[in-house]
Amino acid sequence: MRVLSASELLSAWERGLAQMPVQRALTLLAAACPETSVDTLAKLSIGQRDAYLLTLREWTFGTQLLSLATCPSCRERVELNFNVADIRIASNFELAEAYSLSIAEYELHFRLPNSQDLAAIDSYTDISKTRYFLLKRCLLTANQNGQAITADQLPTDIVDAVVQRMAEAEPQADVQLKLSCPSCSHQWQETFDIVSFFWNEIDAWAYRVLREVHTLALAYGWHETEILTLSPGRRQFYLEMVSK
Ligand SMILES: [Zn+2]
Repeated sequence: MRVLSASELLSAWERGLAQMPVQRALTLLAAACPETSVDTLAKLSIGQRDAYLLTLREWTFGTQLLSLATCPSCRERVELNFNVADIRIASNFELAEAYSLSIAEYELHFRLPNSQDLAAIDSYTDISKTRYFLLKRCLLTANQNGQAITADQLPTDIVDAVVQRMAEAEPQADVQLKLSCPSCSHQWQETFDIVSFFWNEIDAWAYRVLREVHTLALAYGWHETEILTLSPGRRQFYLEMVSK
């Protein structure tokens, strides 16, 4: 993986505009990992994908992350300021090919969900069905009292237990922020989604950069490519000259 230039990031943003979040994540990774096939990237587990996205975000916009949350108790807007290191979960990333779970008379083998699985279940809005279809895709073998069974024959509590085990195997896929309200001291947890967080930042960045290109192109007659290769500092300098 490598750092994206301003021009490459803009191209990825343009492609991602019409895409669903699961595809946007792959568009960004494919741009930053030209040596890896999109198919290989799509088969990364969600935790691995998110760890790469977090690194790409760090290379693109730095280590600090700023966000806003609303206190569920008093509705106060809480400003969050945290570091990439706070949400990077240490992992040796030697993930197993398959995981197993023995529960009651059931013996199950499964793999961890990847982007292809998330894309396939994107259309399901019913959360109970989503969990079931995710499991169905990731289930390798299932036995009840030594007899092979299919995913359809698994009771709901066993489905829930496997989905829970998948989440435990890969905490980077489900990052929880522990928040505390400065106004009423209420404490709660919120999910941090690197895909939507990073995408919103790229979106805001792209609009700003395109406005800058417009201003400089009008003032100096430069081409977009020339303006985008300027360092942010130099671009800023010329923008200040133009506004004087
Ligand atoms: Zn509060």
